[in-house]
Amino acid sequence: MFVFRTVAETPGTNTIVMIVCLFFALLTAGLTTAEPLPASASADRMEQRIKALSQFGANTDGGVDRVAFSDADIKGREYIKGLMREAGLTVRVDTAGNIIGRREGSEPDLPVIMFGSHIDSVPGGGNYDGDVGVIGAIEVAQLLHENNIATRHPLEVVSFTDEEGGLTGSLAMTGRLKTAALGIVTHSGKSVGDGIRFVGGDPDRLELAQRKPGELAAFIELHIEQGAILYEAKIDIGVVEGIVGIRWWDVVIEGFANHAGTTPMNRRKDAMLSAADLVLAINNVATSMSGRQVATVGKIRAEPGAPNVIPGRVVMSLEIRDLSAAKIQQVFEAIEDEARRIAGTRYTAIHFDEIDVDVDPAPTDERMRRIIASAADALGLSHQSMPSGAGHDAQDMTHIAPTGMIFVPSVDGISHSPKEYTSPQDMANGTDVLLRSVLTIDKGALE
Ligand SMILES: [Zn+2]
Repeated sequence: MFVFRTVAETPGTNTIVMIVCLFFALLTAGLTTAEPLPASASADRMEQRIKALSQFGANTDGGVDRVAFSDADIKGREYIKGLMREAGLTVRVDTAGNIIGRREGSEPDLPVIMFGSHIDSVPGGGNYDGDVGVIGAIEVAQLLHENNIATRHPLEVVSFTDEEGGLTGSLAMTGRLKTAALGIVTHSGKSVGDGIRFVGGDPDRLELAQRKPGELAAFIELHIEQGAILYEAKIDIGVVEGIVGIRWWDVVIEGFANHAGTTPMNRRKDAMLSAADLVLAINNVATSMSGRQVATVGKIRAEPGAPNVIPGRVVMSLEIRDLSAAKIQQVFEAIEDEARRIAGTRYTAIHFDEIDVDVDPAPTDERMRRIIASAADALGLSHQSMPSGAGHDAQDMTHIAPTGMIFVPSVDGISHSPKEYTSPQDMANGTDVLLRSVLTIDKGALE
């Protein structure tokens, strides 16, 4: 305003050019600078709630033993339900035991925007894994409630059942929980089926907990990184590209066991030498390709396993992880080529037995990544794209809804430990990004 008036009082050819330039500069700025958030997360309130939640199942190390289906889990769940009600949400527990707090939208026919995480912990766990996502999701609902902000879409805040025991609640919600899983005995001492009943669900009617593709407009999970990338680089927000897929093999190398004293060096079929070559080749394959694939040999056993016998057989593990199933296959095939070459030069046989670990890559939705990155930009927060090496409920949700995931820094990258810590400001930053992403989706960014 000041610039315009000053310039207008002293018109001339140059100043008119300047006015035109300034006008377009301001117009462009006006188009790209997003509106301010209608409300911001309270770091204090979130910190207080994290502390209150951490009382349920508190252990003497400063962390929690709030394993799913324990008495501490029940107390934590009651606390969360209370917070949801305070945020104006209507609370229900689905047949899988997931706690769902709902807020109606102005256009009831629109699909639900869902966001949340989990509050169960591993034994000897910390106070932030999962908890930040649930407390953050409730904070978003509370900010909308306190500021009388209506959304077009119905919103649902979710706290999933038994994440740490095997993503039980999100598997059930996506119709993928296997019946056999209900019999697995959890850290609480109860089976998954009995546990679901204990927290108010009904394991005999899990189909009622299923949400069909199209029922949800989007799913977003806010979570601590559980690694040190953001913390070490001093970056505020991680835009999760997806949860990596995992494949495992037993690699069996057959040579010929023989006397280590009497067999000359040029007459040996040494399985251990082949294994050594192969370990190096696996590392070389994974590092020579572009991308962030990882390949690891973490376990090895030589047979018969005596100092005076040339190893006749070696069994070792191979693990490959990546966001792309095709990339994992490509890495594996390159390793197979190397194995054929090594087997030939060392007079051994090498074969790969795959072990079914059933962890497919779960890429997040590209549009959701853009929405989360723009939300961080608009809030002046630095961000970085990154895969998640750990599993999350979000990976199940990718099967039924456009899914996004927001990471906030973990101090020193420590997780699944009482030493787990994320600062109140980082929690609030992540929650602001969540709020802004929800509002952007509500305005039709995915339509
Ligand atoms: Zn978690």
